[in-house]
Amino acid sequence: MPTKKAPQVGDMFRCESCGFEVHVTKECKCSSGCAELVCCGKDMTNVTEPEVINK
Ligand SMILES: [Zn+2]
Repeated sequence: MPTKKAPQVGDMFRCESCGFEVHVTKECKCSSGCAELVCCGKDMTNVTEPEVINK
C-alpha cells in the first residue's frame, strides 16, 4: 500500500543533500504511486509552495 501520493503537475521536489530540484510537468498516472524521486540515496522532499495569489 503506497503511503506517498503521486506527484502532481506543478509539484516541486528537492534533494536536501545536494539541492537538486525537480519540477513535475506531467503527473504520474500510475495507480500504485510508482513514481520514486530519489537523489543521494534518499527520497526527495516535496517542497511545492502554496499557490501564490498576489503576483
Ligand atoms: Zn542529491
